[in-house]
Amino acid sequence: IPVEDFDLVIFGGTGDLARRKILPGLYRRYRSGQMPEGARIIGAARQDQDSAVYRKLIGAAIKEFVPEKYRDSKSIAGFLELISYIVIDAQGAGGWSDLKKLTRKDVVKAFYFSVAPSLFGDLAERLHTYKIADSQSRIVVEKPFGRDLASAKALNAVLAEHFDESQIYRIDHYLGKETVQNLMAVRFGNILFEPLWNSQYVDHIQITAAETVAVGSRGAYYDKSGAMRDMVQNHLMQLLCLIAMEPPNEFEPDAVRDEKLKVIRALDPVNSSDIVRGRYEANKDGPSYLEESGNPDSSTESFIAMKVNISNWRWKGTPIYLRTGKRLRARTSEIAVVFKDPPHSIFGKQEGRRGNVLAIRLQPNEGMTLRVTIKEPGPGGMRLMEVPLDMSFADALGADAEDTPDAYERLIMDVIRGNQTLFMRGDEVEAAWAWTDPIINEWQERGDMPKSYDSGSSGPEDALMLLHKDGRRWREIK
Ligand code: NAD
Repeated sequence: IPVEDFDLVIFGGTGDLARRKILPGLYRRYRSGQMPEGARIIGAARQDQDSAVYRKLIGAAIKEFVPEKYRDSKSIAGFLELISYIVIDAQGAGGWSDLKKLTRKDVVKAFYFSVAPSLFGDLAERLHTYKIADSQSRIVVEKPFGRDLASAKALNAVLAEHFDESQIYRIDHYLGKETVQNLMAVRFGNILFEPLWNSQYVDHIQITAAETVAVGSRGAYYDKSGAMRDMVQNHLMQLLCLIAMEPPNEFEPDAVRDEKLKVIRALDPVNSSDIVRGRYEANKDGPSYLEESGNPDSSTESFIAMKVNISNWRWKGTPIYLRTGKRLRARTSEIAVVFKDPPHSIFGKQEGRRGNVLAIRLQPNEGMTLRVTIKEPGPGGMRLMEVPLDMSFADALGADAEDTPDAYERLIMDVIRGNQTLFMRGDEVEAAWAWTDPIINEWQERGDMPKSYDSGSSGPEDALMLLHKDGRRWREIK
């Protein structure tokens, strides 16, 4: 179903994110017929070039970042016709009057701030001064949304000067994943799970976002951030909220976001003994974190594992273990809900028995698996075994799965539709920083140093111990 007619201005339209994600995503939506005929996409950046040159750049980006099976010359040509370019300086006066002339009245206007956050204020201000944005316009802002509570508050304040909260779309692409929305469908669309979704039946929850890539050329930038700021404060926290929140009374933006916010506010402060930080060592495939960061005195972590407790009626006593890092064994993101054992085994002691686990895979191969116990087939008596009930979305949806939008595509279309459900609200972001800040400050005060781990491993030994000491174990990173 096509969305309403729109003008989408991408500030930073020549940058890495625009080339790799935003424009290839828009192309795919165009190809699948979701874009109205009159839609306009306007790239805006400092580079002095015209629309023809910009279209070439985007054509090349589509070739590079869209798989061949989705590329056909007719769609690409049609898509490029929607695109124009304007030279603009976020901090200067040039280009703004031209942008005003280019954008239309009476269509949805969205402005994607795909630039450094230090420019957000300049862009917001000029969109108003030049009367380009109106009260119906939307702005999309990228991570990082601040580096601590104070800077996040300052960013929120600067945007609030010119835009209402209902116009601000803070992107966390994890929320655009099909599985993440399916998590809500599974939780709240079935009667089966929700009665068990509490500390009486759930032993613990594991949330893992493992990457194989190193910091690479982004080393100097990453060194000012680290895994806690780059991954936990936003992506992992958002997943935690969705898995732990109370049922909202309706699937509407504020109803959902109110419930997420309550989870963040219920998080206990974390003991330093419940956190393991790591940084990768060199191996034959690449240099160490220290070398890549270019900072021999670095105390930044490229890996973090932590145990988090939620102080509320539902979750008291059920820990949530978070883990994320770079240069790990495999690229995988999943949430695993590990259920308790039945209160009594009528089958006597059965060695190696493992309980029910609901695993929600975000990547690769989005899908869900529920591990259940059955009888081992055959005449061997009442011996139990576990089998997975597997729901891979690709299998379930068949050929249609190929056309499932990726996270960015879906989220940009949600902006045009005016649906904020999958975007972070300002108070959520601030609450997440308010929880993260004391942890980071404590490391700094203590001069905490990350532990080494082998590239291609599952992280530092101490991360394994974090669960072992509770009589639990991490799921394998594979
Ligand atoms: P980039 O450096 O590749 O591109 C920056 C863009 O901003 C360029 O188009 C540049 O011309 C433009 N720009 C810079 N200064 C400007 C000015 N004064 N006026 C107008 N335009 C100006 O950056 P990127 O990697 O595309 O990232 C953009 C934003 O998205 C950043 O905030 C980044 O943190 C965030 N982000 C990027 C990624 C990613 O994968 N690249 C992922 C998540 C978030």
